[in-house]
Amino acid sequence: MSMKADFVVRHARIRTMWDELPFAEALAAWRGRILAVGRDEEIADLIGPGTRVLDAGGGVVLPGFHDAHCHILLFGLSLVEVNVRGATTIAEIVEAVAAHAHRTPPGRWIRGGGYNENKLQERRHPTRHDLDPVSPHHPVWLSHVSGHMGIANSRALAIAGITRETPDPPGGRIVRDAEGEPTGLLLETAQELIKRVLPPYTLEETKAALEAAGRQMAAEGITAAQDAWAGWIAPEEFRAYQEAVVEGLLPQRIWLMVDVERLTLRDGRFDFAFGLHTGFGSERLKLGAIKIFTDGSLIGRTAALRQPYMDPPDVTGMLVKDPRTLVELIRCAHTGGWQVAMHAIGDRAIEAALEAIEEVMGPEAGRFRPRIEHCGVLAPDLLERLRRLQVVVVTQPRFIYELGDGFRGALGEERARWTYPLASLRGVPLAFSSDRPVVDGAPLKGIQAAVLRCTQSGNPFVLEEAFTVEEALRAYTIGAAYAAFAESELGALAPGRWADLVVLGEDPLEVNPERLAEIPVLVTVVGGKIVWEQ
Ligand SMILES: [Zn+2]
Repeated sequence: MSMKADFVVRHARIRTMWDELPFAEALAAWRGRILAVGRDEEIADLIGPGTRVLDAGGGVVLPGFHDAHCHILLFGLSLVEVNVRGATTIAEIVEAVAAHAHRTPPGRWIRGGGYNENKLQERRHPTRHDLDPVSPHHPVWLSHVSGHMGIANSRALAIAGITRETPDPPGGRIVRDAEGEPTGLLLETAQELIKRVLPPYTLEETKAALEAAGRQMAAEGITAAQDAWAGWIAPEEFRAYQEAVVEGLLPQRIWLMVDVERLTLRDGRFDFAFGLHTGFGSERLKLGAIKIFTDGSLIGRTAALRQPYMDPPDVTGMLVKDPRTLVELIRCAHTGGWQVAMHAIGDRAIEAALEAIEEVMGPEAGRFRPRIEHCGVLAPDLLERLRRLQVVVVTQPRFIYELGDGFRGALGEERARWTYPLASLRGVPLAFSSDRPVVDGAPLKGIQAAVLRCTQSGNPFVLEEAFTVEEALRAYTIGAAYAAFAESELGALAPGRWADLVVLGEDPLEVNPERLAEIPVLVTVVGGKIVWEQ
C-alpha cells in the first residue's frame, strides 16, 4: 500500500515558481501540503479512492496570489454597506440608500459612501433633502471618497444633535444653506459629531463583512492576505477574524498588522496581550508586523516631501512623528519581537524611516525584514540606502494606474520619475499588494499595471520602471510571502509547502499584457481545498 493524496490537480500547465522544477502537469497534496509535483503519469499513482481530483482541463496553475498590504475589513464593509463609488448622478446615490433602507430594520444606521461630487452630473454633494424621502426611518451617513467629509440625513443630524444653532467645531464646518439650515454635509472634524454617535459594529456585522471580502478575494485568486491595520474598526475585530477563519468564512491565510497607536508603552515595551508579537497564531491566522505611520498621502498632500508640492507650491506635507519618537517606537517594537512596517510615502518620510531603521537595527537591518509600506517618492539616494539595508518594499502597482495622473500633478515630471518605481528596485526585497479598498485589489489588475505602467487617462507613467510579467507574478506570490516570513511555506508550488494555488484560463506569461486583467480565475485552492470555483 503506497500513500495516496487527498487532493490532486492534473491536466494542468503548472508554473511552480520552484527553481528545481519550474513546469509540471500535476500536483498532489495531503492534509493541505504539497506531496509531489510532476507529470500526469507520475502523479497518477498518488490518486486513490478518497482523492479529490481537479481536472484543470489544460488551465494554467500558479501559486495563489498573496496581497501583502490590504484592509480586509474595510474592503468587506465597502461590499456590504452602501457603495456609491461609481455613482454618476445623485439619483443613483438615493437609489442605493433606498435599497439598503428596504432591507435594514427601521432605526438601524445605514452607512457607507465613496461618492465623488466631481463625477456626478449635478457637480454637487447630495443633501439631506435628497436622502430623507427614501430614509425616513433610518439615520444615514455617507462618507465622501476622500474621507475628509460626509453627508448625513435629517434623522442622523437629529441623533447627533446638529441644528442651525450648533457652532462649527475647530477644524471643521457644518455646511449650511442660504437660510442657515445644515444641508447635511459635514467637513473635516465636523464629521466627528456623527462618528461619535455611530454605534460600533457588532461581531455579526464584522464577520459578515469579512465573509464578503473573503469571497471576493477568493474569486480573484487570492489565497493569502495581510491586513495592514487591524484592530481599530470594530470592537471585537480580532475575535471576528478568528471566528471567520475557523468557520471558513474567510478562506485565505491572514496576517493582522497591529497599529502602533493601539498599543501602550510600559518600561520600553509595548503592553500588548501578554507579550504576544509577530508570528503568533496558526497556519491560517497570524499576528503580523507593527504598523507605524510616518506621513500621509500624495493625493491629500499630506505625504512628507523634501521639496514642496507642485500644487499647491507652499505645501510640503509633514511627518506625523518626530524622528526621535520614531526611533523610540521602532526600538520598542524590535526588542519586543515585532517586525516593523512603516507607512512612508514622501521622500522625507522614507528618509526618516530608513534612518530610524538603521539606527535601531544597524547595517544588517535586512535580516529583521523591516518593511516600508508604499515607498512612493523614492529619490535616488534613498534607493541606494534601501538597497544597502535590504529593507522590504511593499508597493501597490495598481496605484500607478488609478492614481498616477494625480501623482504627476502633485509632484511634477522630475519627481514622478522616482515615484513608485519597480525596475529600479531589482535587488531589493519587494512585495506587491493592493491597499484595497483604496484601489481595485484584483491581483491580475495590479500585475497588468506593473507591466504596462499606464495611467487611467492612457498616459505612460515612467515606462523604464516597468516589470516583466514574471517579476510581477513573483512580487505577488513569493515576494509577499517573504514580507511575512512565510517564503518557506508559500509562494512556490514545491513539495512540503502549502497547496495554495490558482487555476487560470490563460497563461499570464503568454497573453498580450493589455489583456492580463481579463484572464479568468477558474479555481482557487487553499491548503488543498477548493475555496472558489467559477
Ligand atoms: Zn493601507
